[in-house]
Amino acid sequence: MIIKNPSEVAVILELLSQAYPQAHCELNFTTPFELLVATVLSAQSTDQRVNKVTARLFAQHRTPAEFLRLSQADLEAEIQEIGLFRSKAKNILAACRALREEFGGAVPRTLPELMSLPGVGRKTAKVVLSNAFGIPALAVDTHVFRVANRLGLAQSTRVEETERQLEAVIPREQWIQTHHRLIWHGRRRCGARKPACEGCTLQAHCEYFCLEHRPK
Ligand code: SF4
Repeated sequence: MIIKNPSEVAVILELLSQAYPQAHCELNFTTPFELLVATVLSAQSTDQRVNKVTARLFAQHRTPAEFLRLSQADLEAEIQEIGLFRSKAKNILAACRALREEFGGAVPRTLPELMSLPGVGRKTAKVVLSNAFGIPALAVDTHVFRVANRLGLAQSTRVEETERQLEAVIPREQWIQTHHRLIWHGRRRCGARKPACEGCTLQAHCEYFCLEHRPK
C-alpha cells in the first residue's frame, strides 16, 4: 500500500466533504474548559455517554475554580457512569489546579502547554486546540487512524507517524474538517470489524477495498 499523491488526496477529501458536509465535534461544550473536561472524559467512552454526564455536571460546575470546590470523591460520584472514572476525576482536578496556578484559570492555546496538564495527551490537546480555538490541528484517534490507513492517506502502524503523514498530505486549512469527517466515516460506515463497503462513495479510491476485492 502506498500513500496517495496530492491529486488523489484532493479527490478523497472532496468525497468525504460530500458525504459528511456537516461533520463536527459530537461532544457538547460551551467553553474551552468544558471541552477540555469532556475530551478527558471521552477516552474509552462514547460521546453520547459523556454528553449525558456533562449535561448534569456543567449545570453545576463550569470553571476550574468551581471544580476545585469538589472533593475527588464528589467528582467521582458525578462521573461514575464513565469508564476509568477514578483516574479521570483525579486528572481533572489536578488539571484544574494547574490551570489555576499556571494559566490564571484559562485554558492555554498551545500544544505543549495543553500537554503539560495532567491527563491531557496529544490527541486531547489537539481536539481542544482545533474545536475550542479553531487552531489547525489534526488529532488522530482510533477512527482517524483506521480510516486514513485504509484509504491510503497514511501508511503506518503507529499513531504519531500517521499524524505526521496526514499533516503532510492534507492542506492545513482542511485539517479540522478532515479530522471530523474521518471520524464520522469511521463511526457511521467504516467500522473496525465490518466496514460497510457496499455503497461507500470512497470504494474506488480505497486501498483496503481494492486489496480485499482483487482477483484471487
Ligand atoms: S470502501 Fe470500505 S474500507 Fe474503504 S473507506 Fe469505504 S467503508 Fe471503509
